[in-house]
Amino acid sequence: MDVFKNLIRWYHKNKRDLPWRRTSDPYKIWVSEIILQQTRVDQGMEYYIRIINRYPDVNALANAAEDEVLKTWQGLGYYSRARNMLLSAREIENKHSGHFPENYCDIRNLKGIGDYTAAAIASIAFNLPYPVVDGNVLRVISRLEGITDPIDSASTKKYILNLLEEKIDKKLPGDFNQALMELGALICTPSNPRCIICPLNVHCNAYHTGRIKQIPVKTKKQAKKIRYFEYFIILVREDNKWFTFLEKRSGEDIWKGLYQFPLIETKSLLQNPIEEFFSRNKGFIRPDDILEQYTSKMISHILTHRIIKARFQMLLLESADEEFYEGFKVDYKKLFSYPFPRLTDRYLKVFVEKFEKKFV
Ligand code: SF4
Repeated sequence: MDVFKNLIRWYHKNKRDLPWRRTSDPYKIWVSEIILQQTRVDQGMEYYIRIINRYPDVNALANAAEDEVLKTWQGLGYYSRARNMLLSAREIENKHSGHFPENYCDIRNLKGIGDYTAAAIASIAFNLPYPVVDGNVLRVISRLEGITDPIDSASTKKYILNLLEEKIDKKLPGDFNQALMELGALICTPSNPRCIICPLNVHCNAYHTGRIKQIPVKTKKQAKKIRYFEYFIILVREDNKWFTFLEKRSGEDIWKGLYQFPLIETKSLLQNPIEEFFSRNKGFIRPDDILEQYTSKMISHILTHRIIKARFQMLLLESADEEFYEGFKVDYKKLFSYPFPRLTDRYLKVFVEKFEKKFV
């Protein structure tokens, strides 16, 4: 009895018309899969179009500067995806003569590609029988099979992967994988799945045993850590131009490679951030030079494992001595050419509306 007999037929009839489904170009499929790793389809679509228009092939991407790629990616989050994509494009240029690798191992060896993405590209672009196991697939299969072990455990994932290796349609592996993911996105949704019209309902264990709400089982999540970010937008006027100060984030932390205003990070809320900034940046700016200051509201920015609580302190100053600052000075008018985290980018729009007339 083939449980998945109706699945591909259902997919062909009901799949969403998405731009990356209209191509067999592995480069474009790769770009879409990287975007969709941590982004919803509706949000990712705009970025897919933007990236493909700007970098229509591996060669165009490989020759781009990192800042430019990060700027194109700005707002999508998880910026390591963009950095890894650029490194992989350069590797494809150098190691594979510009041709996207056509076997699973070579695809899997590219930076930023894990088991899931390698299987997706191999099956969709090259028709190779590698099953994908993402959150949608885990939910569908755990309900279908009545699996009550946590789906986020390595052993359950392995069990489901082995099962799909056996069941995957060997003639249409790409469609089989996409059909399962699409079913999870459209029909077998986390709450209120539409079992009545599901092509798998005849065989579904959770449906027939009334356990749809109990399956899938997940291990309890740990509470998210809170990090407090105080940013300092320092503005000084020199030769009829306004300048501000930036630094590039480095180290193995969020937003690596993006730019930021001078920052103080703490584990709890600072009572007097401006005083703290002066004491940490002696020589750079002086309290006597403040012409105007403003503190933004606290902004909460939620990431997968942590919450960032951020404030922006705007300081309009008579002068600043950049020799005492580790970052660099930027012409205010060029500020928006730098890639920023979404949190900063959003605040800058408010900032421009509120203050720009005052000093530009
Ligand atoms: S019958 Fe319902 S629970 Fe089972 S796979 Fe279909 S949508 Fe999911």
